[in-house]
Amino acid sequence: MSIFWSDIVHQLTPYVPGEQPQISGLVKLNTNENPYPPSPRVLEALRAEVGEALRLYPEPTGRALRTAVARQFGLAAEQVFVGNSSDEVLAHVFMALLNHGEHRPLLFPDISYAFYPVYCGLYGIAHRTVPLDEQLGLNVDDYLQPDAGAIIFPNPNAPTGRAVPRAEIERLLQARPDTLVVIDEAYVDFGAESAVPLVNDHANLLVVQTLSKSRSLAGLRVGFAMGQAPLIEALMRVKDSFNSYPLDRLATAGAIAAMDDAPYFERTRRAVIDSRERLAASLRALQFEVLPSQANFLFVRHPAQRGADLAAALRERSILVRRFDQPARIADHLRISIGTDAQCDALVKALTELIGETHHAAV
Ligand SMILES: *Cc1c(COP(=O)(O)O)cnc(C)c1O
Repeated sequence: MSIFWSDIVHQLTPYVPGEQPQISGLVKLNTNENPYPPSPRVLEALRAEVGEALRLYPEPTGRALRTAVARQFGLAAEQVFVGNSSDEVLAHVFMALLNHGEHRPLLFPDISYAFYPVYCGLYGIAHRTVPLDEQLGLNVDDYLQPDAGAIIFPNPNAPTGRAVPRAEIERLLQARPDTLVVIDEAYVDFGAESAVPLVNDHANLLVVQTLSKSRSLAGLRVGFAMGQAPLIEALMRVKDSFNSYPLDRLATAGAIAAMDDAPYFERTRRAVIDSRERLAASLRALQFEVLPSQANFLFVRHPAQRGADLAAALRERSILVRRFDQPARIADHLRISIGTDAQCDALVKALTELIGETHHAAV
């Protein structure tokens, strides 16, 4: 605390990301990073961009990357906004599109991406959480609330990994044409149905994606949003009131190469999906309850083990997974990012020993 702080700083409750410890030999399954390196074409593009041109500011509208993204999705560049990570894109979305006053709260799930309430705090946005069902599933009917100012949820949801079919999202868009619906598709490439094909028919849809997970580029910080031109214009207005050049020349070059390398993207996302199904089967064999996941992580619980104990014991064996204290309903769950098969095997081996040990102790 300091007398120099602006008033709002005293009120903020910042987001706490998963830890990034510098421990060698760590099996790091706590922040949903991709276990595979970025496409070799990305690294090539980055090297080619290192040069004298770094003296100059980049092109301010992100035109070249917006065009590359638009090409992938069959959209126009005017329907794409790009930013320095999808977290930053989301921050602009919250400010530009999700604040409709005290009496029209923003709705999002009670168990979801923990950054949403943080943005609400930063921008003073009224919000109301909507409970997931008993199986931690999301039902779009629960969002048909007459006073909703806007709606946001991840699909697949985080940290549950459960997905809503595109037809359900379309039903929500049709039922509430005057309410903006933002779908955060950070994990969509691992098996869920994207809402992007609905963009041209629905003025009330905005879809946000990131290169951090399915394109193995968490370190490059690139995200984007897709929607009809008036929504993109609102985001551009906020961006140009904040930072004219959010994407540097290196990030732009790497991101374009990543979007254009479809074969590498297909191969690595398929490998993650296959490892996920293999790991889910191994964990079920250890009596874990494993939610069906369309993401690059599993959300699991063991009926006879405390989540905090398991996470701590794994950490002692240099294996990191993520756990959440709040809400209490998920305090015993572990969120396990999908690693390589070798990393998943190391996890299963450690859990087999741990559960065996505590089983013995209890007898
Ligand atoms: C990881 C994640 C993001 C943020 O991705 P970045 O582009 O790395 O900022 C956004 N939303 C959800 C639900 C995520 O899990």
